[in-house]
Amino acid sequence: MSELRELYQEVILDHNRNPRNFRIMEHPTASVEGYNPLCGDHYTVYLRMEGDRIADVSFQGAGCAISKASASVMSQLLKGKTKAEAEKIFETFHTLVTGKREDMGSIEEVGRLAAFAGVREFPARVKCASLAWHTLKAALEGESKNVTTE
Ligand code: ZN
Repeated sequence: MSELRELYQEVILDHNRNPRNFRIMEHPTASVEGYNPLCGDHYTVYLRMEGDRIADVSFQGAGCAISKASASVMSQLLKGKTKAEAEKIFETFHTLVTGKREDMGSIEEVGRLAAFAGVREFPARVKCASLAWHTLKAALEGESKNVTTE
C-alpha cells in the first residue's frame, strides 16, 4: 500500500514539475478561467473542438502542486476524446476525489486518476484537484463565464 502511495505521489510530483499541455492555445474554440480562492489556484483552460471531439486541450496559470498536476493529467487524458467520453472521465474523477466511490475500480479504468484519490481526506484539497476539471466542463458546455470553487 505504501508503495502504491509513493507511486501516486510520484505522479503528482512529476506532473507538477513538468506539466503537460501547459501553454496558451492560439485558436481555442472555448476558454474558461477557473479560480480557487481558498488556495489561490488560478488557471485558464483552453479547448479546441473538432466536431464532437476534443482536438486539443491546454492550460495556463499558477497554483499548488495538486491543482497543477491534476490539470496536467486531465489534459493528457482528455485529448482526442469525444464530449461524452470526456464527461464519463470527469464523473470517474469526481466520484474518486469526493470519496463517493468506495472501491477504486480497476486500475485500467482509473489509471493515473487514482493518484488523486488521496485528497478525499482533505476537503480543501478536493477543490484544488477538481478546479481544472470543473473549468474544462464549463468550457465543454460552452459556458463563457469564469468558474470559482466558492
Ligand atoms: Zn490548491
